[in-house]
Amino acid sequence: MALFSRKDKYIRINPNRSTIQAGPQAKPEVPDELFIKCPGCKKTVYQRDFGAAKACPACSYTFRISAYERMDLIVDKDSFEELFTGIRTKNPLNFPGYMEKLQATQEKTGLDEAVLTGLAKIDGQKVAIGVMDANFIMASMGTVVGEKITRLFELATQERLPVVLFTASGGARMQEGIMSLMQMAKISAAVKQHSNAGLFYLTVLTDPTTGGVTASFAMEGDIILAEPQTLVGFAGRRVIENTVRENLPDNFQKAEFLLEHGFVDAIVKRQELRQTIAGLLRIHGGAYE
Ligand SMILES: [Zn+2]
Repeated sequence: MALFSRKDKYIRINPNRSTIQAGPQAKPEVPDELFIKCPGCKKTVYQRDFGAAKACPACSYTFRISAYERMDLIVDKDSFEELFTGIRTKNPLNFPGYMEKLQATQEKTGLDEAVLTGLAKIDGQKVAIGVMDANFIMASMGTVVGEKITRLFELATQERLPVVLFTASGGARMQEGIMSLMQMAKISAAVKQHSNAGLFYLTVLTDPTTGGVTASFAMEGDIILAEPQTLVGFAGRRVIENTVRENLPDNFQKAEFLLEHGFVDAIVKRQELRQTIAGLLRIHGGAYE
């Protein structure tokens, strides 16, 4: 038995380092306590003041939210029509325990896969929308995630709709091996067709967006937004440091660092995202009904 137990129940992002520090039962969810010490600014905040956006009223720190919570925050009330459900992986490598893990995650999250896809309206403008959810096997990209996002782009091209995609991912889904990696090319081809048709694609990078998702469709948006303090990268920090044998800056792989270096167009607070996206859709010819 451990002599000391940590009280942290959620992931803390230390503003001075880019690494994520996690307690033993780490969950980046709003804790149950009435008052919460904000991991960002260290102020004690009344839980209710975090609101539906789960954002600190004093600083820009945000807790992780589910795909359904995100959808509620962004799209017009009752406008979301979920599509492409019921696609199932064939477990191509016969990876032991994979199907059981999937089933348990489906029951826990209420999602059928790590991305929620469909049609919706944002401030009256019709869009094809996808939201990845880090609660689902760290939103890793397997064949089903790849297929759902590809179909979303194909439908958007056919119906001449803009695509809004909230990305989050730990990378490729290791249980599906090379089949996961192939999704990068498959989705990118569908993105290109959508682009060739002169249609608008907006990505919003949410914490964390890494691996093959960053290396493909997350960075292919016509406009790329990110939430404050979002971790964005391809390989992990230590892997890069060991490869290039150099110390990397403290804020390396943070949205703010990427903005400085031109990889991200703007950092937008979660509370202002809906309004910002609606404005961008209007400028870039959102579809009206
Ligand atoms: Zn705060």
